[in-house]
Amino acid sequence: MNIHEYQAKAVLADFAAPISAGKPAFTPDEAVAAAKALPGPIWVVKSQIHAGGRGKGKFKEAKAGDKGGVRLARSVDEVKRFASEMLGATLVTVQTGPAGKQVNRLYIEDGSSIDRELYLSALVDRKASRVSFVLSTEGGVNIEDVAHKTPEKIHSFSIDPATGVMPHHGRTAARALGLTGGLAKQAEALIAKLYAAFVAKDMSMLEINPLIVTTDGQLRVLDAKVAFDDNALYRHPDILALRDETEEDAKEIEASKHDLNYVALDGTIGCMVNGAGLAMATMDIIKLYGESPANFLDVGGGASKDKVTAAFKIITADPNVKGILVNIFGGIMRCDVIAEGVIAAVKETGLTAPLVVRLEGTNVDLGKKILRESGLNVIAADDLDDAAQKIVAAVRSAGQGAR
Ligand code: GDP
Ligand code: MG
Repeated sequence: MNIHEYQAKAVLADFAAPISAGKPAFTPDEAVAAAKALPGPIWVVKSQIHAGGRGKGKFKEAKAGDKGGVRLARSVDEVKRFASEMLGATLVTVQTGPAGKQVNRLYIEDGSSIDRELYLSALVDRKASRVSFVLSTEGGVNIEDVAHKTPEKIHSFSIDPATGVMPHHGRTAARALGLTGGLAKQAEALIAKLYAAFVAKDMSMLEINPLIVTTDGQLRVLDAKVAFDDNALYRHPDILALRDETEEDAKEIEASKHDLNYVALDGTIGCMVNGAGLAMATMDIIKLYGESPANFLDVGGGASKDKVTAAFKIITADPNVKGILVNIFGGIMRCDVIAEGVIAAVKETGLTAPLVVRLEGTNVDLGKKILRESGLNVIAADDLDDAAQKIVAAVRSAGQGAR
């Protein structure tokens, strides 16, 4: 789960990380009130969307001369004007995709005077089985570009969970950020605070870009992007309360209610598969035969009839879906039960798009017989290869395939 920048900063502030004063605002009037409560003379009006690159982003509604989704205001009037322009408008950044995201909230922050912009992030390093920090003196810019062009400017180290943050980690971080003296001390303290926050809140990613050095020699978190491990959210009701469903794909929200692992994609073939590995293989083979999957969907090992029906509804609600491929291995779940679930779902959703079903495993013959005798227009497939070819052919002969 992702949260907004202002929420991430509040979480980090609870662990005593240095942030600027600021307030969220949902209307231009709230933005004005927020600005008046801050000292000035510079305010930052920041669009709150679950995507980065806001500063360099562009509003679809932008008029000539308008700036991006993060703007420095020099008066309260300017805060009001920027807030009116941004709220309700659609911001397109390198991370939103071409459709962009509507800005429904702003964060009004006390403006900082910046000396240097640095980069710091923490993530779960699965290979090392540890939390790793990534640091660079090149902050405020796209870190992927830095990694590509000047990889020597990116430093990383991981923390042994048995020892936690040790003094040498802090020193390594300060060196990687090019900080000395008092600033190095601040960096050392910051690493310990961020690690504590990361572990306590079960974060999966924390990115501070930029971490700044102010002109009066303070280290400060100027931007913050945090993602949490969904599997640990049950023990963080405070974090779960920060969820903003308007930032998420409606189909993914519905899927999460049914405990389905669903990710929306932009192809034309809806996939219903059990097991993440099989789902990946199914997507790959659809690509191999020249079409693209409309989604990743793992209905899980014990897919019930209700789950299968819910999954069908989510897949068919996607207007891009021109055909469906069901690829299920009946292990825990018997193929005859799955076949009955598919038939019930097809009847309930009034499916008209071509449907290819490949079943394998326990009671497979009975499952196939049930499908055959259902009288429904279900194309049976023998194996994964056959299934992929059949759904691609069906979608194409319907004349709607994405070439
Ligand atoms: P992003 O574009 O979504 O990554 O949003 P950021 O919060 O990182 O802001 C983008 C850029 O705006 C930063 O890299 C800074 O250069 C600039 N910026 C943000 N806040 C301030 C501020 O308080 N003072 C100044 N001078 N610049 C700021
Ligand atoms: Mg940033």
